[in-house]
Amino acid sequence: MFKVVITDYIGPEVEVEKSIIGDLAEIEPLLARSLAELEGKVDDADAIIIFHEVSLPEAVISRLSNCRVIARGGVGYDAVDFRFAGKLGIPVCNVPDYGVDEVADQAIGMMIALNRGFLKAERGLKSSLEPWDCRAVKPVKRLSGATLGIVGLGRIGQATAQRARAMRMRVIAYDPYLRPGTEKVFGVEMVSFEELLSTSDVVSLHVPLTKETEGLIDNDALSRMKSDSILVNTSRGSVVNTAALAQALRSGKIAAAGIDVLPIEPASEDEPLIQLWREADETNVNLIITPHTAFYSAEAMLEIRTKTAMEVARALRGEKLVNCVNSQWLPDKIRERVLIGVPPTV
Ligand code: NAD
Repeated sequence: MFKVVITDYIGPEVEVEKSIIGDLAEIEPLLARSLAELEGKVDDADAIIIFHEVSLPEAVISRLSNCRVIARGGVGYDAVDFRFAGKLGIPVCNVPDYGVDEVADQAIGMMIALNRGFLKAERGLKSSLEPWDCRAVKPVKRLSGATLGIVGLGRIGQATAQRARAMRMRVIAYDPYLRPGTEKVFGVEMVSFEELLSTSDVVSLHVPLTKETEGLIDNDALSRMKSDSILVNTSRGSVVNTAALAQALRSGKIAAAGIDVLPIEPASEDEPLIQLWREADETNVNLIITPHTAFYSAEAMLEIRTKTAMEVARALRGEKLVNCVNSQWLPDKIRERVLIGVPPTV
């Protein structure tokens, strides 16, 4: 029998995983919340499943003696040193397609909630039933005809664009790596990052966390945005400089923000956005924070666990992998063995 370790988040109940890899492997859920809790428990694993409460840096990966795959139960894989794993011949896989609709719903939901003043009106009513009219939410700008700027027009960006188009918004996007023509399928106009910032009524972030996107929304970017605009971040916390955003919200440089992700999670009291959010009273609700829940639905959770375990099963059986994200760092022999081929060219 192989040994599959689930580092965090899922356990002690692992029935979903057992139903897929139970005949191949013993499954050990560690429920770890720190690197120290992984010490001595993953080194001999044949496969590792990692969710989001721990990371796998070089120091841990370098001790893996048998590992055939590291499977990330999620889209982003920035918490795994995937380059180093690749050089050691360990494929890293993700599940890119489990929560696309949920995250797009959350981004659009945050945009609508902030634009329509839901929280401002609802919280205000708790202390007084007056005013019982539009004074409770003023000013509100019409969303149809307004411009949504999407940064990163991948799966979630596209699903968000489709929803916004159905709401008759104008949708523009910035994504230097997009396959040309994709935007036409979604009725989106590609623009430069600067143009997106200066012309959007709502900016929604859907990029992975990379060296390029870390701190992408900083003081300079915020100062290019319209003073009545809304920023929505359901991507990764570190894409935004949160101290700069807190300052921009305080000073009215932008109007509002919807935030599902923070640079350090779980959030701490000294996070600038948490401090601002705690200070806000019911007359000034311009910041919505949710605790990294955008991906979640009962269906998405089952899908993610199922697909992660299926990828591990493929690795243990020596079959081709579906979602390997570090193929360019794998030694040639392993790359050929694990990768599903690309369509032939003429
Ligand atoms: P994706 O890979 O399908 O799309 C990402 C897009 O970003 C790609 O089109 C890529 O070309 C583009 N991109 C990369 N670098 C860029 C840059 N410097 N500037 C502009 N565009 C750039 O990924 P996805 O499935 O759409 O997910 C997007 C991100 O959402 C993930 O990377 C993940 O971090 C985050 N996410 C969050 C949650 C949540 O619960 N909040 C859930 C799932 C995914």
